[in-house]
Amino acid sequence: MGAFAAAFLMLVSPLTPRQQSGGRQLCGCLGGRRGYHSVRAASNLAAVRPPRGRLYALKIQLESGSGAAGTSPRAILIPVFLQQPHRRYNALSGDWVLVSPHRAQRPWQGRQEPVAPAALAGYAPDCYLCPGNRRANGEHNPAYSGVYVFDNDFPALLPAADSTMDALPDGLLQAQPVRGECRVICYSAQHNQALATMPLSAIGAVVDVWAQQSAALGERYAWVQIFENKGELMGCSNPHPHGQIWCMDALPNEAAKEDRQQRAYFEAHGSLLLADYAQQEEAQAQRILLANEHWLALVPFWALWPYELLLLPRRPVARLPDLSAPERTALAALLQQVLVRYDNLFDTAFPYSLGWHGAPFGAGAAHWQLHAHIYPPLLRSATVKKFMVGFELLAEAQRDLTAEQAAARLRSLPAEHYTLRSA
Ligand SMILES: [Zn+2]
Ligand SMILES: [Zn+2]
Repeated sequence: MGAFAAAFLMLVSPLTPRQQSGGRQLCGCLGGRRGYHSVRAASNLAAVRPPRGRLYALKIQLESGSGAAGTSPRAILIPVFLQQPHRRYNALSGDWVLVSPHRAQRPWQGRQEPVAPAALAGYAPDCYLCPGNRRANGEHNPAYSGVYVFDNDFPALLPAADSTMDALPDGLLQAQPVRGECRVICYSAQHNQALATMPLSAIGAVVDVWAQQSAALGERYAWVQIFENKGELMGCSNPHPHGQIWCMDALPNEAAKEDRQQRAYFEAHGSLLLADYAQQEEAQAQRILLANEHWLALVPFWALWPYELLLLPRRPVARLPDLSAPERTALAALLQQVLVRYDNLFDTAFPYSLGWHGAPFGAGAAHWQLHAHIYPPLLRSATVKKFMVGFELLAEAQRDLTAEQAAARLRSLPAEHYTLRSA
């Protein structure tokens, strides 16, 4: 039996008395009837007890030195998981991801030079999002300042229900009608801005519009997907800072998976899956990128994309409109700090897809915790992108860089945007 197999067995074995009280090791429980059990401080090791019933323990050990708060030792994933192939469970989606940290020791191909960004002006005459400009459908944008929302000229969904269209349940051939709307949100009138470089008050205005739009569209649709596709690598050719909203009267696949997982967890444990998860991440600390009074930004344990992030409020919040004013202000600050670090990673305007997942509208929301995902495609330079192809398309998502390595790399970056750094 290889080292990994032994480690895996150790991972899924119930705690033994030795492990419960074991020296420099302690256990963070992943399950149990009463939900999450926080990892205790070293002085409190003897108090760590598994819950009764089924239990699978993740062995972690204490790392000497200071933790994220700078005061206490922190618990870390055991080193074998940072070196050997393993699979991680995404508790939020129910999917698994293959992690292959040993491949990070492959010969280094050399960092490619960043692509020098074209200097952009604050206004572009040929941009269909700039104030006053003509759009593809012939309409002109108003001379807006601040945030501007309009209906997408080429929507993927249409609001009018066609009465001639019924669900098609023809054996294995199933189809159903869908109703929806698509909107565009210009974050700024300035063509050369981005969320990472906008003033905090302007980012706060975007957060407010996200919440307003979500509330308004939620009156008509079950799912309101607010998202931003940034950068040509993500298929977005217009650099004008903007996001989108697509809403529909059905739950899309990702929402349905997360709804199922969060509901099942809530029914089994009486607590929120993502709140318990955040508590466990805070105890381990090693995947946390940033934290403020109201929010956490972390590389999720189950991340697929190299520098994927999850943004989580620190109290139960079902949807964007439920955020308080201080939480919105704190979110603007967190977003800015996160996106500046992204840009600083390869000294480039870092591409990503960012999107919000709040509770579906028109149904109970007690099981759901609001969160944002950020999925960036870049791997090791401004031009080297991760592809989801081959094994990943046909079998399971896979990554080489561990979530812990990604978080450490992001944490090490300066808080000041690279374009503001003195040469
Ligand atoms: Zn523009
Ligand atoms: Zn989600």
